[in-house]
Amino acid sequence: MDRKRVEALVRELLLEIGEDPAREGLAKTPERVARAFERLTRGYALRPHDVVNGAVFESGSDNMVVVRDIDVYSLCEHHMMPFFGHCHVGYISRGRVLGVSKIARIVDCLAARLQIQERLTNEIARAVRDETGAEGVGVVMECQHLCMMMRGVEKQNATMSTSAVLGSFHDDAATRAEFLSIVTSGHHR
Ligand code: ZN
Repeated sequence: MDRKRVEALVRELLLEIGEDPAREGLAKTPERVARAFERLTRGYALRPHDVVNGAVFESGSDNMVVVRDIDVYSLCEHHMMPFFGHCHVGYISRGRVLGVSKIARIVDCLAARLQIQERLTNEIARAVRDETGAEGVGVVMECQHLCMMMRGVEKQNATMSTSAVLGSFHDDAATRAEFLSIVTSGHHR
Protein backbone atom coordinates (compact mmCIF):
# COMPACT_ATOMS: atom_id res chain seq x y z
CA MET A 1 0.00 0.00 0.00
CA ASP A 2 1.28 3.45 -0.98
CA ARG A 3 0.51 5.38 2.20
CA LYS A 4 1.08 8.84 0.72
CA ARG A 5 -1.32 8.09 -2.12
CA VAL A 6 -3.97 6.84 0.33
CA GLU A 7 -3.52 10.01 2.39
CA ALA A 8 -4.19 12.11 -0.73
CA LEU A 9 -7.31 10.07 -1.50
CA VAL A 10 -8.64 10.53 2.04
CA ARG A 11 -8.06 14.29 1.74
CA GLU A 12 -10.15 14.21 -1.46
CA LEU A 13 -12.87 12.24 0.30
CA LEU A 14 -12.98 14.79 3.14
CA LEU A 15 -13.49 17.57 0.59
CA GLU A 16 -16.23 15.66 -1.19
CA ILE A 17 -18.27 15.10 1.98
CA GLY A 18 -18.13 18.83 2.68
CA GLU A 19 -15.32 18.92 5.20
CA ASP A 20 -12.32 21.19 5.43
CA PRO A 21 -9.22 18.97 5.52
CA ALA A 22 -7.19 21.96 6.75
CA ARG A 23 -9.08 22.46 9.99
CA GLU A 24 -7.19 21.54 13.09
CA GLY A 25 -9.07 18.38 14.04
CA LEU A 26 -8.61 16.88 10.57
CA ALA A 27 -5.04 17.89 9.93
CA LYS A 28 -3.66 14.45 10.70
CA THR A 29 -6.74 12.46 9.76
CA PRO A 30 -5.57 11.36 6.29
CA GLU A 31 -2.38 10.00 7.84
CA ARG A 32 -4.30 8.21 10.60
CA VAL A 33 -6.80 6.71 8.15
CA ALA A 34 -3.99 5.49 5.90
CA ARG A 35 -2.25 3.81 8.84
CA ALA A 36 -5.54 2.31 9.98
CA PHE A 37 -6.23 0.84 6.53
CA GLU A 38 -2.73 -0.54 6.38
CA ARG A 39 -3.46 -2.35 9.61
CA LEU A 40 -7.06 -3.40 8.80
CA THR A 41 -6.09 -4.86 5.42
CA ARG A 42 -2.78 -6.43 6.47
CA GLY A 43 -4.27 -9.83 5.63
CA TYR A 44 -3.60 -9.29 1.93
CA ALA A 45 0.08 -9.76 2.68
CA LEU A 46 -0.43 -12.83 4.90
CA ARG A 47 -1.32 -16.43 4.21
CA PRO A 48 -2.81 -18.75 6.83
CA HIS A 49 0.08 -21.14 6.26
CA ASP A 50 2.56 -18.43 7.25
CA VAL A 51 0.75 -17.35 10.42
CA VAL A 52 0.53 -21.00 11.54
CA ASN A 53 4.29 -21.08 11.06
CA GLY A 54 4.69 -24.78 11.65
CA ALA A 55 2.84 -24.87 15.00
CA VAL A 56 1.12 -28.17 14.21
CA PHE A 57 1.66 -30.88 16.80
CA GLU A 58 1.27 -34.63 16.85
CA SER A 59 -1.51 -35.81 19.12
CA GLY A 60 -2.32 -39.39 19.97
CA SER A 61 -6.06 -39.10 19.65
CA ASP A 62 -8.74 -38.15 17.17
CA ASN A 63 -10.97 -36.19 19.52
CA MET A 64 -12.99 -33.21 18.46
CA VAL A 65 -11.23 -29.96 19.31
CA VAL A 66 -13.43 -26.88 19.67
CA VAL A 67 -12.22 -23.32 20.19
CA ARG A 68 -15.06 -21.01 21.12
CA ASP A 69 -15.60 -17.25 21.10
CA ILE A 70 -12.74 -16.16 18.89
CA ASP A 71 -13.02 -12.43 18.22
CA VAL A 72 -13.65 -11.41 14.61
CA TYR A 73 -13.07 -7.92 13.22
CA SER A 74 -13.40 -7.42 9.49
CA LEU A 75 -14.55 -4.96 6.81
CA CYS A 76 -17.50 -5.67 4.55
CA GLU A 77 -16.56 -5.49 0.90
CA HIS A 78 -19.82 -3.80 -0.08
CA HIS A 79 -19.43 -0.70 2.10
CA MET A 80 -15.92 -0.97 3.55
CA MET A 81 -17.52 -0.70 6.98
CA PRO A 82 -16.72 -2.94 9.95
CA PHE A 83 -18.46 -6.13 10.84
CA PHE A 84 -17.47 -7.82 14.05
CA GLY A 85 -18.44 -10.55 16.45
CA HIS A 86 -17.07 -13.96 17.21
CA CYS A 87 -16.67 -17.40 15.77
CA HIS A 88 -16.36 -20.97 16.98
CA VAL A 89 -14.08 -23.43 15.23
CA GLY A 90 -14.13 -27.20 15.66
CA TYR A 91 -12.22 -29.98 13.96
CA ILE A 92 -11.44 -33.64 14.26
CA SER A 93 -7.76 -34.12 13.63
CA ARG A 94 -6.05 -37.09 12.16
CA GLY A 95 -3.51 -36.94 14.97
CA ARG A 96 -2.38 -33.41 14.14
CA VAL A 97 -3.53 -30.39 16.16
CA LEU A 98 -2.88 -26.68 15.82
CA GLY A 99 -1.26 -24.62 18.57
CA VAL A 100 -4.04 -23.01 20.59
CA SER A 101 -3.40 -19.44 19.46
CA LYS A 102 -3.01 -20.37 15.81
CA ILE A 103 -6.69 -20.74 15.03
CA ALA A 104 -7.22 -17.17 16.21
CA ARG A 105 -4.27 -16.10 14.03
CA ILE A 106 -5.87 -17.80 11.00
CA VAL A 107 -9.13 -15.94 11.71
CA ASP A 108 -7.27 -12.62 12.06
CA CYS A 109 -5.33 -13.04 8.86
CA LEU A 110 -8.40 -13.91 6.78
CA ALA A 111 -10.53 -11.20 8.42
CA ALA A 112 -7.99 -8.43 7.79
CA ARG A 113 -9.14 -7.77 4.22
CA LEU A 114 -12.39 -6.82 2.54
CA GLN A 115 -14.75 -9.71 3.15
CA ILE A 116 -18.28 -10.94 3.23
CA GLN A 117 -19.12 -12.99 6.30
CA GLU A 118 -20.11 -16.09 4.33
CA ARG A 119 -16.80 -16.25 2.48
CA LEU A 120 -14.76 -15.51 5.58
CA THR A 121 -16.49 -18.43 7.35
CA ASN A 122 -15.69 -20.77 4.46
CA GLU A 123 -12.09 -19.61 4.16
CA ILE A 124 -11.45 -20.23 7.86
CA ALA A 125 -12.85 -23.76 7.57
CA ARG A 126 -10.70 -24.56 4.54
CA ALA A 127 -7.56 -23.08 6.10
CA VAL A 128 -7.99 -25.17 9.27
CA ARG A 129 -8.54 -28.28 7.14
CA ASP A 130 -5.53 -27.53 4.95
CA GLU A 131 -3.18 -26.81 7.86
CA THR A 132 -4.17 -29.81 10.00
CA GLY A 133 -5.34 -32.38 7.47
CA ALA A 134 -8.42 -32.69 9.69
CA GLU A 135 -11.06 -35.20 8.63
CA GLY A 136 -13.75 -32.66 9.41
CA VAL A 137 -14.07 -28.96 10.26
CA GLY A 138 -16.95 -26.78 11.42
CA VAL A 139 -17.09 -23.00 11.77
CA VAL A 140 -19.97 -20.96 13.16
CA MET A 141 -19.74 -17.16 13.04
CA GLU A 142 -22.02 -14.48 14.46
CA CYS A 143 -21.36 -10.88 13.53
CA GLN A 144 -22.94 -7.48 13.61
CA HIS A 145 -22.58 -5.33 10.51
CA LEU A 146 -22.27 -1.59 10.95
CA CYS A 147 -23.36 -1.06 7.35
CA MET A 148 -26.74 -2.48 8.36
CA MET A 149 -26.93 -0.99 11.84
CA MET A 150 -25.81 2.56 11.04
CA ARG A 151 -27.74 2.89 7.79
CA GLY A 152 -30.92 1.74 9.51
CA VAL A 153 -31.41 -1.29 7.28
CA GLU A 154 -32.64 -4.52 8.89
CA LYS A 155 -31.77 -3.26 12.34
CA GLN A 156 -33.82 -5.96 14.01
CA ASN A 157 -31.75 -8.62 12.32
CA ALA A 158 -28.39 -6.97 12.71
CA THR A 159 -26.65 -10.12 13.92
CA MET A 160 -25.91 -12.49 11.11
CA SER A 161 -25.04 -16.14 11.62
CA THR A 162 -23.10 -18.19 9.10
CA SER A 163 -21.65 -21.66 9.21
CA ALA A 164 -19.38 -23.85 7.15
CA VAL A 165 -18.93 -27.60 7.55
CA LEU A 166 -16.40 -29.75 5.76
CA GLY A 167 -15.68 -33.47 5.67
CA SER A 168 -17.22 -35.48 8.51
CA PHE A 169 -18.91 -32.36 9.89
CA HIS A 170 -20.78 -32.19 6.60
CA ASP A 171 -21.36 -35.90 5.98
CA ASP A 172 -22.11 -37.14 9.49
CA ALA A 173 -25.17 -35.72 11.27
CA ALA A 174 -24.01 -36.97 14.69
CA THR A 175 -20.62 -35.24 14.36
CA ARG A 176 -22.28 -32.03 13.26
CA ALA A 177 -24.77 -32.24 16.16
CA GLU A 178 -21.95 -32.78 18.66
CA PHE A 179 -20.13 -29.71 17.36
CA LEU A 180 -23.25 -27.55 17.46
CA SER A 181 -24.14 -28.67 20.97
CA ILE A 182 -20.64 -27.79 22.23
CA VAL A 183 -20.83 -24.42 20.50
CA THR A 184 -24.27 -23.54 21.84
CA SER A 185 -23.77 -24.97 25.35
CA GLY A 186 -21.52 -22.08 26.31
CA HIS A 187 -23.77 -19.54 24.72
CA HIS A 188 -23.86 -16.55 26.97
CA ARG A 189 -23.65 -13.58 24.61
ZN1 ZN B 1 -21.88 -3.86 4.04
